[in-house]
Amino acid sequence: MLLGLIVVLMLGSYLYQRIADGLVNDRLLTARAEATSQTRAAQSRFDSAGRLDAVSLTQLAFDVVGQLSSPGADQSREVILTRARNNTGPASVPTVLSSDVGLPNVPSSLRGAIAADPSHQQVQIISIPGADGATIPAAVVGSRVTLPAAGQYELYFVFPLEREQQTLQVVSRTFTLGGIALVLLLGAVAYVVTRIVVDPVRRAALVAERLASGRLHERMRAHGEDDIARLGKSFNAMADSLQKQIRQLEDLSRVQQRFVSDVSHELRTPLTTIRMAGDLIHDSRQDFDPSVARSAELLYNEIDRFESLLSDLLEISRFDAGAAALDLESTDLCNTVGRAIQSTSALADRRGSRLEVIPPDSPCVAEIDPRRVDRILRNLVANAIEYGEGRPVTIQLGVNARAVAVTVRDTGVGLRPGEAAMVFNRFWRADPARARTTGGTGLGLAISREDARLHGGWLHAWGEPGVGSCFRLTLPRHTGVSIESSPLPLRPPAQGSPASVPAESASRPLKASGGAGS
Ligand code: ADP
Repeated sequence: MLLGLIVVLMLGSYLYQRIADGLVNDRLLTARAEATSQTRAAQSRFDSAGRLDAVSLTQLAFDVVGQLSSPGADQSREVILTRARNNTGPASVPTVLSSDVGLPNVPSSLRGAIAADPSHQQVQIISIPGADGATIPAAVVGSRVTLPAAGQYELYFVFPLEREQQTLQVVSRTFTLGGIALVLLLGAVAYVVTRIVVDPVRRAALVAERLASGRLHERMRAHGEDDIARLGKSFNAMADSLQKQIRQLEDLSRVQQRFVSDVSHELRTPLTTIRMAGDLIHDSRQDFDPSVARSAELLYNEIDRFESLLSDLLEISRFDAGAAALDLESTDLCNTVGRAIQSTSALADRRGSRLEVIPPDSPCVAEIDPRRVDRILRNLVANAIEYGEGRPVTIQLGVNARAVAVTVRDTGVGLRPGEAAMVFNRFWRADPARARTTGGTGLGLAISREDARLHGGWLHAWGEPGVGSCFRLTLPRHTGVSIESSPLPLRPPAQGSPASVPAESASRPLKASGGAGS
């Protein structure tokens, strides 16, 4: 619209100027021609008059001026006869006017031009008083005439340009109205075209957003043969193909989950038999020779690992099937931490790790499923001991208005950059060779994260090689309440900077168990 407005303004003013110039030039041409013939006629009348006395000459001048100014209704020409500036003879004939337009209306530059070049006509556009007080433009044409005995006089023809002005006013009004109509039309066309193009694009964007948010059955309307319809058809074809592939993947994933679940279930019965046989062999290992006795021990340990792997697989299958449910109880997290320490104290003793607890400022009570949270904390503390290289493991509790948190921190091997996010992947291990024989099942943290999610909570990891790791469990105090921030920091404060916990509580272990500190 703005462009249209600019074009209309430029074109309008250019055309207006051309029309105005044309009209004025035409009028000037006819004015010059009229003035030439009328001046000639006046001069011949003065010439033929012969020598007259002053009164008769004045009378003649009035007659001539009266005749030269248009007679009757056509008042389109006024005449002024006045003494030339350089005529210094006796003023026998006064200035003669045919109307109100008098000598003051004639610019002195025009008079000067005639004085300078008396043999030629001089033309100028001036303003003269019109009807009802307004001024109107007029063309004034001046030339010299010679009056008998009175000498050089100037004869001016004033041609009012009133009609041209009116024509130009009509033209300007027409241009303005036409311009406004054109710009409005342009705007309307632009609006309609934009609607036609933009609306389908907006609808396409909406459908794409819905599709991205998982509503795979969303499709675009695609009628007709235009570009938008083609876009719609391609989009729908893409959505069909995506939907098909996602369904296939979902089916595949379901089949895999089902397979894992079925295999785990199927393995349970033979494993129970193997377990019983293994126990029997293990119990009577003293009766075997040493190499067979060692094999009996290995068998016993591996059956243990096999059993825990199987139970972890079954647990993961339950999460995948969406069958996991919470059994909520209002629980003090200090007790949960106490139980986790108790169950890992034997491991801590073996590894020589000291377990330190930093209690919360206020009671850490939350609605949790104690069995699941026990499992998470047991896993975190066992990992911290396992990867803590015999150094102390610190367990801190924190609480705020909405959430409770526990951090388990060790100063052992730590995590390399990027590993903090990968530790929660199923079967992921930083060192596969080491962990497959000595570590757990590789599913511990994956299950812990699912347990935390089931509570609507978070499980985060941080680690730096050689500095240690920190795992933080944050749970909402009440079910359905979303957590905004964790009461405890994940990253330990830098060495030398003030600790994020009060110093006195940091130095006051709630309960220490295992290793040198127990
Ligand atoms: P695993 O049974 O192997 O311990 P997890 O799921 O508990 O399985 O842990 C996965 C991997 O995360 C571990 O193999 C180990 O590489 C890494 N990890 C877990 N806890 C720590 C820790 N405290 N420090 C360093 N690495 C850890």
